[in-house]
Amino acid sequence: MTNPAFKTSIATVSISGTLDAKLQAIAAVGYDGAEVFENDLLSTHLSAREIGAMMADLGLACTMFQPFRDLDGLPEPQRARAFDRLERKFDVMQELGTDLLLVCSSCSPLSDGNRERTIADLTEAAERAAARGLRLGYEALAWGRHVHDHREAWGIVRDADHPALGLVLDSFHSLSRQIPSSSIGDIRPEKLFIVQVADAPMLDMDHLGWSRHFRCMPGQGDFPLDDWAGAIRKIGYQGYWSLEIFNDRFRAGSASGVALDGYRSLRLLEGGIARPSVSAAALPPRVKTAGVEFIEFAASHEEAENLAAMLRPLGFRPTARHRSKDVTRWTQGVGTQGVDDPVNIVINCEPEGLAHSFDVVHGASVCALGLAVDDVPGALARADFLRVPRFNQPLAPDEWPIPSVRGVGGSLIYFVDAATRAAMWAHEFPTTLEDPVPGPRLAIDHVAQTMQYEEFLSWLLFYVALFDVAKTPQLDIADPMGLIQSQAVENADRSVRFTLNGSLATQSLTSRFIQNYFGAGVQHIAFATDDIMAVADAAHAQGLPRLSIPRNYFDDLEARWGLEPDLIDAMATRDILYDRDGEAEYLQFYSRAFARRVFFEVVERRGYAGYGAVNAPIRLAAQARHKPDFPD
Ligand code: MG
Ligand code: MG
Repeated sequence: MTNPAFKTSIATVSISGTLDAKLQAIAAVGYDGAEVFENDLLSTHLSAREIGAMMADLGLACTMFQPFRDLDGLPEPQRARAFDRLERKFDVMQELGTDLLLVCSSCSPLSDGNRERTIADLTEAAERAAARGLRLGYEALAWGRHVHDHREAWGIVRDADHPALGLVLDSFHSLSRQIPSSSIGDIRPEKLFIVQVADAPMLDMDHLGWSRHFRCMPGQGDFPLDDWAGAIRKIGYQGYWSLEIFNDRFRAGSASGVALDGYRSLRLLEGGIARPSVSAAALPPRVKTAGVEFIEFAASHEEAENLAAMLRPLGFRPTARHRSKDVTRWTQGVGTQGVDDPVNIVINCEPEGLAHSFDVVHGASVCALGLAVDDVPGALARADFLRVPRFNQPLAPDEWPIPSVRGVGGSLIYFVDAATRAAMWAHEFPTTLEDPVPGPRLAIDHVAQTMQYEEFLSWLLFYVALFDVAKTPQLDIADPMGLIQSQAVENADRSVRFTLNGSLATQSLTSRFIQNYFGAGVQHIAFATDDIMAVADAAHAQGLPRLSIPRNYFDDLEARWGLEPDLIDAMATRDILYDRDGEAEYLQFYSRAFARRVFFEVVERRGYAGYGAVNAPIRLAAQARHKPDFPD
């Protein structure tokens, strides 16, 4: 599964832990090399020589030692001291077994910024490096005092014209300053010593703070990395692509998890973040999704009864039983689109297997999602390529194989072949139970997943790397007990929409949800309808416990949007929330929570593309009042 196109590396500053643990995590994921960050070396109990030997044992190249700051343009005696310091770093590099040192453009107020001086100092440094078989890579920091643009840095390297002096390109420094990537075309590939990669959200803030705290993995932020990487490939660069990510969240996360995310993100960059790349024919394309085929709950029989009591009022019926397992297929929908394409919920009461262990660990909850995909072998190839673990459960001889991978919180994502799904259902669920009932027709609109704040970016990357989904802008939602970060991923025809929610506040409802769940998972399932009033009436008549919304909310709606009093009353009596975007309208209501973990939502989109984020604080406050749903 090796791919020679990109040589992969990561700076040790990117992940958490002690240096030896970081290196082990990096090697285990399969990187070709690692940059050793000086602070990591200073804080380890191992000598540089021992670290070098360890890297060799692990099969990791030491791609660079970094950083060396404030070398050029200094007056005496600071200049002489800087060169002495440089010689000592050369000693360390030789012990580590790397020949490349990163030299940043100077931030020192003592540096005079004279271009000829800079060239002369870097040339002398390169001469000393060359005498010991070493090389220097010069990097323009976005906040460098005099040099803060890679075009300027390249001009200096080119004019110094020393074989031991080359350029370091770092996507953050170039793209945070919006330097056109076309300028990379001027750089000679043999003078580009290493490429450092990071993404970041577009923020309007000082470059240093932005870089130190908001760098993230390619695909997680907003930088136009495809153009940038394309320009580097175009000049014929053959060296390492090295992640250099400073991010507080990653340093709080698990070393192996962040190392794996980084590896995936480099593979994603290699194949094109925003669009498939023609040059990467070996890379399996993103998984093309055709909808959520089913949602599987793990539950005991007693819990299944409680779940049934919420599903029936929404028009679901247990229509079929699995051929050999204690698993029931619930479907919703008879009508215009026919019974061939209903909403499917599967309730798994098996006494063993993954669903059972999921129920034991998490309580009754969603243990798997089935996504309809066009190309199952292609989906598995993409997952393998991104090192997404497959899940294998023993199959009975006559069981229909449905391959799966690990998703959020240890749950599964099944790849259901879109072309043969009807045959799959008929084969796996041959025993019919109740007939489906007529009534308002539902479809799956979105699935909301909740996770620890630390995991949020990791899962965002998981979805955008594996599937043909794009992310929506990030939102902050006010919880009565703290802020929640929310972002959605959607495929092009919006037949697959997931919303991701992460909470930093330990007392927020989202956090309580995670505690009640013992981990990340599906928090709510939203169904779409064309007639939310009819669905609300039918559900209410059949006893769906609804989340009640205070009258104040509706009075405010009236004032805000100038809606007809009849519509306001119709919504108020049904606890329906409202939002508007231009002419587009969104109506939504929620059930109470099932088993304190999962609730249902019904939405009617009248051209509306979002998720009613403006109403989330109202919903959260209403849930906070329902203490039994989300106990402290
Ligand atoms: Mg850098
Ligand atoms: Mg929702």
